[in-house]
Amino acid sequence: MISLHGLTKVFAGGVRALDAIDLTIADGEFFALLGPSGCGKTTLLRTIAGLETPTSGTIRINDTDVTSLPPGRRDVAMVFQDYAIFPHMSVADNIAYPLRIKKVPRAQRTARAAEVAATLSLGGLLDRRPSQLSGGQQQRVALARAIACHPRAFLFDEPLSNLDARLRLEARTFLKRLQRDLAVTTVFVTHDQAEALALADRIAVMSNGRMVQVGSPTDVFQRPATTFVAAFIGSTPMNLLPGKIADGALHVAGATLPSPTGLPDGTDIVYGVRPEYTDLTTTERPDAFPGAVSVLENLGTSTLVTLETAGPLIQTVVPEGDEPRLGTRAWAVPRRALIYRDDLLHTTAP
Ligand code: ATP
Repeated sequence: MISLHGLTKVFAGGVRALDAIDLTIADGEFFALLGPSGCGKTTLLRTIAGLETPTSGTIRINDTDVTSLPPGRRDVAMVFQDYAIFPHMSVADNIAYPLRIKKVPRAQRTARAAEVAATLSLGGLLDRRPSQLSGGQQQRVALARAIACHPRAFLFDEPLSNLDARLRLEARTFLKRLQRDLAVTTVFVTHDQAEALALADRIAVMSNGRMVQVGSPTDVFQRPATTFVAAFIGSTPMNLLPGKIADGALHVAGATLPSPTGLPDGTDIVYGVRPEYTDLTTTERPDAFPGAVSVLENLGTSTLVTLETAGPLIQTVVPEGDEPRLGTRAWAVPRRALIYRDDLLHTTAP
């Protein structure tokens, strides 16, 4: 278990990279830190690893306060974006390196390296140098090295980011299975929302050194706490449309919808609807967003349709074969939506 209390990091120059973070990661949990560039993800991971000293706050691993312990005594293994495997060492020596540092006898570390290499399908590559390996194999060597010393936690900083798209998907599935089998607490930094949704038991969405929302992938996808989270999560961005309550109804982007409970006339809201949670029709209806079909993007088994309206653009996803013609008038009917007031989730609709 990793618990953080009031963790703050202010860098020289005044950048507040972490701002009073409180968080408990459960034993065995796969936890993703997600957020845009510069939000503090890497700083948080490095602080847990002991590579940065917090300005204030504490870090506990299980029952031990490790805040002032050096990295080597925290018993966590970190895998970086660039793997940092040693080019002059064989695969076997790379994997066994942390055991050498711990003064494990040679025969034992060779056996352990071979055993871990086998679980990562690196068995036949033990004598090769990193330069003789593919990117995916190098990444597995870095993972094997992290696994070899039975750490209490894995800390991963974008470990898949150097892989091409296809290999990245394969490595993702592999990593998820591996983590499940080893059941070691894992903190995983990524800026890729799809990766976080696919891998994590829970996700913390970060912005400006703070955690905006912590929850399961379903929580952050279905009930994003703020419009920032709503805009960040999802392969096609959520439509976030300004609206107003008037005459007991909700008026948004040319549609008249039932007013959400508890909101008086005159309230400004933001109506959030995912492109996947809309239906497109060519028949006019008052409870749908009208627009002109301006762009069609092929997504494989579906098509992303952009409607040009008097206000913001509205995007909707239609199944293959149901594409409207460019330039025609169409209506996007919301099926499932979120209503934000003062930037906070107020309720779900309809
Ligand atoms: P990315 O996805 O781009 O790696 P990140 O979310 O991991 O971003 P951090 O690297 O944690 O972000 O940086 C958080 C903030 O702290 C940024 O504004 C960054 O410029 C700043 N920062 C990071 N390291 C230092 C440092 N050594 N000195 C001063 N400022 C720093």
